[in-house]
Amino acid sequence: MAWDFSTDPEFEQQLEWMRTFVREEIWPIEPIVDELTQAQLDRIYAPLQERVKERGLWAAHLDPELGGQGFGQVKLGLMHEILGSSPLAPNAFGNQAPDSGNSEILALAGTPEQKERYLYPLLSGDLKSAFSMTEPNAGSDPTLLRTRAVREGGDYVIDGHKWFSSNASIADFLIVMAVTDPDARPHQRASMFLVPVDTPGVTIVRDVPTMEHPEPSYGKLGNHAEILYEGVRVPADALLGEQGAGFMIAQHRLVPGRIHHCMRWLGVSARAFDMLCEYATHRYAFGSVLADKQTVQNWVADSAAQMQAARLMTLHAAWKMDTQGASAARQDVSLIKFFGAGVMHDVVDRALQIHGSLGYSTDMPIEAMYRYARAARFYDGPDEVHRESVARRILRGYEPPEGGVPSEHVPTRREESRRKFADVLEAVTAND
Ligand SMILES: Cc1cc2nc3c(=O)[nH]c(=O)nc-3n(C[C@H](O)[C@H](O)[C@H](O)COP(=O)(O)OP(=O)(O)OC[C@H]3O[C@@H](n4cnc5c(N)ncnc54)[C@H](O)[C@@H]3O)c2cc1C
Repeated sequence: MAWDFSTDPEFEQQLEWMRTFVREEIWPIEPIVDELTQAQLDRIYAPLQERVKERGLWAAHLDPELGGQGFGQVKLGLMHEILGSSPLAPNAFGNQAPDSGNSEILALAGTPEQKERYLYPLLSGDLKSAFSMTEPNAGSDPTLLRTRAVREGGDYVIDGHKWFSSNASIADFLIVMAVTDPDARPHQRASMFLVPVDTPGVTIVRDVPTMEHPEPSYGKLGNHAEILYEGVRVPADALLGEQGAGFMIAQHRLVPGRIHHCMRWLGVSARAFDMLCEYATHRYAFGSVLADKQTVQNWVADSAAQMQAARLMTLHAAWKMDTQGASAARQDVSLIKFFGAGVMHDVVDRALQIHGSLGYSTDMPIEAMYRYARAARFYDGPDEVHRESVARRILRGYEPPEGGVPSEHVPTRREESRRKFADVLEAVTAND
């Protein structure tokens, strides 16, 4: 009987090291990150990344033959919970999105030459990458993609318009999803291409200012670029995987990518929760500290319950991925994708609410966490799409009841029970 919630002591030591490292080395970068250029930020990261490598924690999501640690999802879950406490931490550990997901698809679908040219330098931190799929007219329904890649002799020529390609303005290469087979079935129309960012015809138009980064800024980690592809000619060996296999490869990237997001959100929620509780113990209004108000106690208890539920659901989905594969865990990952995003949103919102104007101000990190949390409810699949997919799968297991009478209809069941227990009922009556 295996039903074990403990962490093995050796790994617990690693987690403890990560907790201290992230708090002492990464959190202090946060208040000055906007003053730093990307080059200065890289300089701060370099020695930290070395320490992570020495500790055997670099690129932990990948198998050892690819230079990773082969942790599996449960260990990764526990690790990401710590890294999630700061948006700057994953980059110090070689598992910053989108590089982490991109390295996974390169490992899965790349040729030996593509791995040599892109994967290994990506893993060692010498290259940066972006994943360029979403278009202004095609987001959650990628069968609407319009970007085309047309075969011309030994080349493909790519034309299209993308946006929200995270980190593209600091990337060395882009993984571009483009339609190659417009007449095929919807999920066999698109292919992926490896496109060096300096290929003629690639124009990074801008980093799109967002709720998370409202001020226009260009060329920094964590920005999301708008890109034009105009007559971008790449050789046929830029194709990643089979022609028409773009969606299949994307699924391999998205399922683990989604769960990694959920794991990091646990860290965001926990940090917001700590701020909520700390402030509650000290802010005084209407005759008591806020911790003594029942509403605030409800926030604390509800947040703790929601976080615990999200944590267990996330680690369970991770365990399922480890033991039964990503495909078997698809529904669990969809569940936690929308549930976890909602929990993070609610906990951060309560933390902001309790701090009042202080929480709304940039004197606290909560307003930034709130802006970050808001996007989680629609990137990598909006809540509605994940709910729909979960509900559809669940409902597939049900049929209309025979004769239109619900299976639990009490009078019908009573009749059946009377028949089933007729002997006993008659005997009792006889003895009465
Ligand atoms: C911070 C951030 C980073 C991102 N990084 C990347 C990246 O690196 N690469 C990349 O390619 N893309 C990236 N994206 C884009 C992201 O993947 C898309 O935002 C996402 O796929 C949703 O697409 P959309 O924004 O076009 O929304 P749409 O597809 O237009 O959907 C809008 C809304 O419609 C509703 N909706 C959609 N479908 C349904 C349905 N079936 N039922 C009910 N309602 C529905 C939902 O409320 C949804 O929010 C990023 C986005 C953000 C915010």
